[in-house]
Amino acid sequence: MRARLATTVGGAAGRLSRLAGRGDGSVIGGRIGLWLEPDLLSMLAAGRQVILVTGTNGKTTTTRLITAGLGALGQAVASNGFGANMEEGLAAALGQAPNAPYAVLEVDEKYLPRVIRATAPRVVVLLNLSRDQMDRAAEIWLLARRWRDAFGGVPGMRVVANADDPLVAWAAASAASVTWVSAGQRWREDSWCCPQCGSHLRRDGDDWRCGECSCARPRVSWVLDGGKVIDSAGRAHELDLALPGRANRANAVVALAVVEVFGITVAQALPRLREVTSVAGRYTQVERRGRPLRLLLAKNPAGWLEAFDVVDPPPTPIVLAVNAQEPDGRDTSWLWDVDYRVLRGRRVFVTGERRLDLAVRLEADGIGFELVDGIDDAVDRVEGRLDVLANYTAFQQIRATLGRVS
Ligand SMILES: [Zn+2]
Repeated sequence: MRARLATTVGGAAGRLSRLAGRGDGSVIGGRIGLWLEPDLLSMLAAGRQVILVTGTNGKTTTTRLITAGLGALGQAVASNGFGANMEEGLAAALGQAPNAPYAVLEVDEKYLPRVIRATAPRVVVLLNLSRDQMDRAAEIWLLARRWRDAFGGVPGMRVVANADDPLVAWAAASAASVTWVSAGQRWREDSWCCPQCGSHLRRDGDDWRCGECSCARPRVSWVLDGGKVIDSAGRAHELDLALPGRANRANAVVALAVVEVFGITVAQALPRLREVTSVAGRYTQVERRGRPLRLLLAKNPAGWLEAFDVVDPPPTPIVLAVNAQEPDGRDTSWLWDVDYRVLRGRRVFVTGERRLDLAVRLEADGIGFELVDGIDDAVDRVEGRLDVLANYTAFQQIRATLGRVS
């Protein structure tokens, strides 16, 4: 009864917030609901098959791909598809789909243990773990240890984890049941040391092992192999996604491993994954003043590295937009962790509230750039297509300028 009241009041607040033009309203609705009923999340999750998705990068896209794949079951699926990934966003997503027997929820890395306790998930997905805007190596190790502690003692829970990320593999190893996926690890700066004993990790391609203790890459059952996925029975399938880049192919392999837990085959899921063309505005192609633009979001060093894999080759010009508001992290020193030399040979436009910080960084890498006053200023300076790469709030501002593209 209280859960219903909390959901109803929360939903009404969400609608009011939407009418007032304050975003999609889901977060405020969930916040009020949780204030009325602190156990709202566990009440709303009860009786459903819940899948939680976490990691530093790829959460939103993987959540979307799993949701698409689960569509093969022909049942309703609740999901926080727009990335509101703390408790209020999760409660709102469940409250908006009260009859959905399945829920695919993106969860902020720090909240995972608490959300596991509240939702008793069927599957937990661990993508990767690397430094975010604010976190450094010690903090992400602590995070991995908290995950590790949270996985023991949840009956019937399956973890689907990226075996190529040593921190993730170490955290997942405490779970009773794990599906190991070789999803690759592009960014390795945060995993030179063994998570178990601190010794140097030995690497050979994707393989890794500790020289001092037994910590080593587990045997994988799903593999991303170039443009193909090799499934748990050893069969290869062409991925052929609409979403660009290696990181998204890796997310798709993880999604296929997850839906297999629910009896969905690769042949059933893949056509549905291919229908996903953009995720909450990311990868969207839009036209602005006659020029085609593509929007890419990247929030941290590993994300920028993966986004550079996706951008068109030179001479396609690129806009880089950086802010340092609360959700981005106030400190822009992470910009120094990214290697920008791949941008040589193209025009680079720099914008955003912290464009000067980025300009100094580009200068150090010897990359020529032009400072611009926002996206339209850049658009006016080019003839053809343009890639746009932005961090979190800079991305939202550009979306707003372009008219809330989806
Ligand atoms: Zn070790």
